[in-house]
Amino acid sequence: MTLTLIPDYDLSKHTWLGVGGRADQFAEVENQDDLISFLKNSKSPITVLGAGSNVLIRDGGIEGVVLKLGKGFQKVTVQGDKMMVGAGAKLMDIARVACEAGLTGLEFMEGIPGTLGGGLSSNAGAFGGKLSDLLEEVFFTDFRGNTKTISDFSDWDYRYSPWAQKGIFLGAILQATGKETTDKIKALMDEYHAKRMATQPKGVRTAGSTFKNPSNTSAGFLLEKCGLKGYKKGKAELSAKHANFLVNNGATATELENFVEELRIIVSQKEGIQLEWEVQCLGRK
Ligand SMILES: Cc1cc2nc3c(=O)[nH]c(=O)nc-3n(C[C@H](O)[C@H](O)[C@H](O)COP(=O)(O)OP(=O)(O)OC[C@H]3O[C@@H](n4cnc5c(N)ncnc54)[C@H](O)[C@@H]3O)c2cc1C
Repeated sequence: MTLTLIPDYDLSKHTWLGVGGRADQFAEVENQDDLISFLKNSKSPITVLGAGSNVLIRDGGIEGVVLKLGKGFQKVTVQGDKMMVGAGAKLMDIARVACEAGLTGLEFMEGIPGTLGGGLSSNAGAFGGKLSDLLEEVFFTDFRGNTKTISDFSDWDYRYSPWAQKGIFLGAILQATGKETTDKIKALMDEYHAKRMATQPKGVRTAGSTFKNPSNTSAGFLLEKCGLKGYKKGKAELSAKHANFLVNNGATATELENFVEELRIIVSQKEGIQLEWEVQCLGRK
């Protein structure tokens, strides 16, 4: 089956920040066979989007074809102490299935609003856990449809995956760290949820942490130390509740990117530390 490519497609509705230009072409892919056959026959630049919770898509839009993984990529199944998960599955759904099955180690995914594919791209994590701690195998294709199984994760690190931007994650086998009662797992997830509620802004347009934490300190601490917590410029803002959360009150992608670059300069000048973007900027300026 061929994909239905929609030309000149507005991407802003697919991002948590609510900004971004248009994709030259956009398609939702139902399953892996359709994806691979499309990639094998396409010469266009390819970009894949998950839940759009960690991207700033620039106002100039994205060249080529933007793909979103559909239903065939959202399956989550449990086999013993392992989970088979499609790249389009939501991290929070994976955590909840693990909880019901009495599997531990996935609780940190509660409250991360992205998909497994987006999570694999940044090695998402929280509360001391990260995806690479759980990976047994990752299924991957390059942008031309050549598939591969990844089973060495020794190079993966804090918010770093060596395979990011090199192709498309299709799914993974996750290995739980152990077994526990659903009640106890749920209690830990509730604790994480409460911590997020107490420290993160709700009901705003954000992409979560703007910067990666430098070694030995946190980006939020540095931003706060520089007096930037709650700092606003036009319609761009750093949350008054969490200094590392960028909040969009109606700014353009360019305004947001310039705002974040200004923050980097201020922290560099005052603290001598070069903050690195955690949010991924995609597309043409
Ligand atoms: C309120 C809030 C809280 C957050 N908390 C956390 C947190 O605690 N920890 C954390 O790590 N992150 C956090 N995030 C950031 C974000 O949710 C995670 O990075 C998430 O894993 C991104 O997934 P996504 O599906 O939204 O990816 P997207 O934002 O859609 O994409 C991110 C990147 O991944 C690529 N990508 C997406 N899918 C695939 C795929 N299938 N194959 C290859 N590449 C792909 C995209 O091209 C892009 O480069 C938070 C975000 C918000 C808004």
